[in-house]
Amino acid sequence: NVAYISGQFVEQSNAKVSIEDRGFQFGDGIYEVIKLYNGKLFKADEHFKRLLSSADLIRLKVKHTLEELKEIALEVIDKNTDNQSGSLYIQVTRGVSPRNHSFNLDLDPTIIMYLLPPQPFPEELWQSGVNAVTLLDTRWSYCNIKTTNLLPNILANQEAKDQGAFEGFFVSPDNVVIEGTSSNVFIIKDGVVMTHPITNKLLSGITREVVLELAKEDFEAKEITFTVEELYDADEVFLTSTTKEVLGVIEVDGRKIHDGKIGPITRKLHSSYRNYIEDINNF
Ligand code: PLP
Repeated sequence: NVAYISGQFVEQSNAKVSIEDRGFQFGDGIYEVIKLYNGKLFKADEHFKRLLSSADLIRLKVKHTLEELKEIALEVIDKNTDNQSGSLYIQVTRGVSPRNHSFNLDLDPTIIMYLLPPQPFPEELWQSGVNAVTLLDTRWSYCNIKTTNLLPNILANQEAKDQGAFEGFFVSPDNVVIEGTSSNVFIIKDGVVMTHPITNKLLSGITREVVLELAKEDFEAKEITFTVEELYDADEVFLTSTTKEVLGVIEVDGRKIHDGKIGPITRKLHSSYRNYIEDINNF
């Protein structure tokens, strides 16, 4: 496996960063995960735009343009022809410097790109749906930044797993459902598809955006907040992410959603999403 690290393509096991990399010491970095379908990046421009926007928001100057980053990504894919259906992982940290909280604005960022093998995501989960639990959102005020500082997310995800759930849904102190630990959350009530509006409280998911557009073609779709009670009382619930696409949620906090089966609108949206991917790939 060949990985890219700050200007060089090297065997992945030889790709190393310094112990004084700020990404390692402070989580001072940003990242993206882009899914590969048949060797092609899905929504590459949107992911690289979000990466550059995350960089701006943490005052990190990436010295590459979007086009240059995309070229590096394509080269990584070219050099790993045995892995055409995993994901591309991209991480940019502020770079290496003697340990100090404050940073020099002119550091050379550490950029890495490599391919993650296909996640063995069981097809049957898309058929059966998954369960989730709600967890208090104790994160900070910049959840719109896709930062590698993922401690609150990984602790919440582990808490969900410890409770026997597939995903944890972050809930604000005033009971609003924000997003998943690594996904966005949608509910459907009386035929209306709803998800939290884009604010600094959540990540603007690329999948969320595509699904909203697809939903608007066939249904009424709204970006609007909803409470935990509205989540429990929904006709259908699903989550979205790059790797999980559109995944039905049939139980939250041990309560069945509607009849405890994936609903028709969720199914329709997942099939629309799959068709959309195919259309793009055949373009
Ligand atoms: N929200 C959080 C906190 C995430 O980490 C992710 C993805 O990992 C998402 C939402 C979904 O984003 P996307 O659809 O771009 O994968």
